[in-house]
Amino acid sequence: MHKNFKNIEKVVFGRGSFSTMESILEPVRKENNHFFLFVVDDYFNGKELATRIPSKPEDVVRFIDVDPHEPTTEQIDALRDEILASKGIPSGVVGIGGGSIMDIAKAISLMFTNEGSSTLYQGLNLVKNPGIYHLGVPTISGTGAEVSMTAVLTGPEKKLGLKCDWTVFNQVILDPEIIATVPRDKWFYTGMDTYIHCIESETGILNNAFSHAYAEQALKLCQEIYVGENAGQTPENDDKLMVASLMGGLSLTYSEVGVCHALSYGLSKILGEKHCYANCLAFQHLEDFYPHGFAEFNAMLKKHNIVLPKGISKNWTDENITAMAQVAYNLPHMWNHAIGADWKEKITLETIKDLYKRF
Ligand code: NAD
Ligand code: ZN
Repeated sequence: MHKNFKNIEKVVFGRGSFSTMESILEPVRKENNHFFLFVVDDYFNGKELATRIPSKPEDVVRFIDVDPHEPTTEQIDALRDEILASKGIPSGVVGIGGGSIMDIAKAISLMFTNEGSSTLYQGLNLVKNPGIYHLGVPTISGTGAEVSMTAVLTGPEKKLGLKCDWTVFNQVILDPEIIATVPRDKWFYTGMDTYIHCIESETGILNNAFSHAYAEQALKLCQEIYVGENAGQTPENDDKLMVASLMGGLSLTYSEVGVCHALSYGLSKILGEKHCYANCLAFQHLEDFYPHGFAEFNAMLKKHNIVLPKGISKNWTDENITAMAQVAYNLPHMWNHAIGADWKEKITLETIKDLYKRF
C-alpha cells in the first residue's frame, strides 16, 4: 500500500517570522465574508505576542484555555455555530498555540463548510467538502500537529481525528522565538512526543527510506537538544526543536506510531491524561519494545531531573484498565506496524491489560 500524503502548502521559518503574517493574510481577506477567525491559546491573553496579532476590527479573536481538556467535538461545533450565526463564513482561520489550538484551527476550518456535527467526520476521509483557508503558528513544539493531516478531537464516543488532505494547513509560520516561554516540564514532555514519534516510526514494518530520513534527522536534533553537550532550553535548541517536531510529524505520516501511542490514547481517553505526558508515562515501561529509545529516554529524564510517577496502576480499577485496553486494542494500524501483520496472534486485550498494569 502506498501512502499519498499532502504536505503543508507553505512554510515560513525563522526568528521574528511571526511578523510576516499580516502580508500573508492580506490576499486571503477577499474570500468569503472578509474577516478572519483567530483562535489563540489563552496563555497569550495580555502578553506581548497578542498585541502583534494582525487582526482588524472586523476579525474575531478568541482566546481559548486548553488546559481543562483536549479539544472536543462539542467545542468545535459550538464555536462554528456561533461564528456562522453572527458573521457567516470567515476568509480563514488562524491558530496560534500548541497541538490543542492547531487541532481546533484545523477542525473548525473544515466545519465551516461541512454540515452537522464534527462527530460525523471523525475518521479517515469522511469530510465531504474542502474547508476554508487555515494558517497555524505553533507555540510549543513536539506533537507535529502543525504538519499532520489530522485534527484530533474527543467526542462522546471516540477520540479520533478528522483526517483528510483538507485538514493540512495552507500555511504554517515557524517562529522559534515564540516557544521560549514554554515551562521546562512542558518543554520536556512535548519534545518527547517528537522523540517517541521517531522511535516508533523507525521500529515497525512500515518504516521506509522516506520516513527514516526524517526520523534520523529529528532524532539527531532531539539528542542535541535533550542530552547533547549544549542540551537545554536555549534559542539554538528552540530553533532545532521546531524543525524536529515538523520532521517527526512527517516521519510518522509516512510510517506509523506504535505501542506507546496506542497505550497513551487509552490513558487520554479514559483518564484524561494529556497526550505528551501520557506518552512519557507509557514509554518508561516499554523497554522490551523499544530498548534503544528506552535507554536514551532515561538519560534525557535524568539530565533534566524529570521524575515520572510509577505505580499509578495501583489506583486503577479493573474497569478502568479494561476500558483503556479496549481503546488501545482498537488502534489496529499501530499494532500492525509495531508487532507485524500477525499482531492479533501476539496481542490480545489481556496482553494490553498487562501492559497497563506495569504503570
Ligand atoms: P497544548 O496545546 O495542549 O498546550 C500545552 C500547554 O502549554 C498549555 O498549558 C498551553 O497554554 C501551554 N503553552 C503553549 N504554548 C506556550 C508558550 N509559548 N509559552 C508558555 N506556555 C505555552 O500542547 P501540546 O502538547 O502541543 O498539544 C496537545 C494536544 O495535541 C492534544 O490535544 C493532542 O491530542 C494533540 N495532538 C495532535 C496531533 C495531531 O497530529 N493533530 C498529534 C499529537 C497530539
Ligand atoms: Zn504523539
